[in-house]
Amino acid sequence: MKAIVKKEPQKGFSLVEIKEPIINSPHDVKIKVLKASICGTDVHIYKWDDWAKNRIKKLPQIDGHEFVGRVIETGSEVKNVKPNDLVVGDSHIPCGYCYHCRNGNMHVCQNLQILGVDRDGVFSEYTVLPDKVLLKIDDSIPLQYASVMEPLGNALFTTTVADLRGKIVLITGAGPIGAMAIEIAKISGASFIVVSEVSEYRIKMAQKLGANLVINPSKNSLVEEIDKLTDGLGVDVFLEMSGNENALNEGIKSLKNTGVASILGVFPTEKINFDMNTAVFKNLTIQTITGRKMFETWYLAASWLKYKKLDLSKIVTHNFDFMDYEEAFELMSSGMSGKIVLNFSQ
Ligand code: NAD
Ligand code: ZN
Repeated sequence: MKAIVKKEPQKGFSLVEIKEPIINSPHDVKIKVLKASICGTDVHIYKWDDWAKNRIKKLPQIDGHEFVGRVIETGSEVKNVKPNDLVVGDSHIPCGYCYHCRNGNMHVCQNLQILGVDRDGVFSEYTVLPDKVLLKIDDSIPLQYASVMEPLGNALFTTTVADLRGKIVLITGAGPIGAMAIEIAKISGASFIVVSEVSEYRIKMAQKLGANLVINPSKNSLVEEIDKLTDGLGVDVFLEMSGNENALNEGIKSLKNTGVASILGVFPTEKINFDMNTAVFKNLTIQTITGRKMFETWYLAASWLKYKKLDLSKIVTHNFDFMDYEEAFELMSSGMSGKIVLNFSQ
């Protein structure tokens, strides 16, 4: 089969011909990958930046972790999926037995392995994954939207920690996940959605998605604009989806006393400046987010997509044949796109 592989510790990937993976355990599932989408993490690995150099331990490795596929074979003990099922899956592979797994927090398993980071990923024509990370989804869900259910789960997890009904919501960063959060906030009953974004392409995307006010903080002060909008009160809920230190501090300043901050963004350095006293004296609730709730966010995403409540048509902006991965990665790196999907099979 063909696979997109990080072979050498340098920029780029290689398209290689390798053996199809086989079922090794009774709980393994062999999947024909139909579509897989590109995440910011894949771009870090593609560019081979400092994060990737420090994080990736073993080369060569197949990249990719967001996918939809069809089951073609199951191990003897697999009960949740069967051949021909359409499946998606979490990129966080939990052990299933540690303290966190047993307390319903598989996404922060003590022995977590991440697809395409700690082990071979899914940018290949076939993949083998453990049954515990897979979810069968309805065949009516368009494949390109099914392939982005993993980041959609990040957006859902971040967004659903607060009740958004009737609330003024601020989202900093309208990358693919922030854009998904706009869509989720709309259908969750937010009264008014403010988006802060610095890229012109993504400002337009946020406007098309129906954000009520889009501010470019490099041109206008986010805090002052929100002050005007809310008569000095601040927003109810702040969703941090940029991974930018200034955006985080501006968001905290823009929050109402007793407001809720939900932080998904990952920052480029371990330590950042954070205006802690402002947060303390506002009596905020600050929730950090990693991964997806397994499997609450998956079931919610599957239901909203099946019943066509969630519209991803303005967020998935490009489809490429997987052989054209280089063009796709260059476009994703440029920031001039929403979500980009690679087609592995029809
Ligand atoms: P992305 O990098 O594509 O989007 C971030 C957006 O923030 C960009 O459009 C950028 O222009 C914008 N931005 C940069 N500086 C800004 C500023 N000062 N103010 C406002 N906007 C600004 O990322 P994404 O894939 O949409 O993911 C969003 C964030 O979530 C990233 O930081 C990513 O690393 C993180 N993430 C976290 C998890 C997790 O499990 N915690 C999972 C996936 C992604
Ligand atoms: Zn575990």
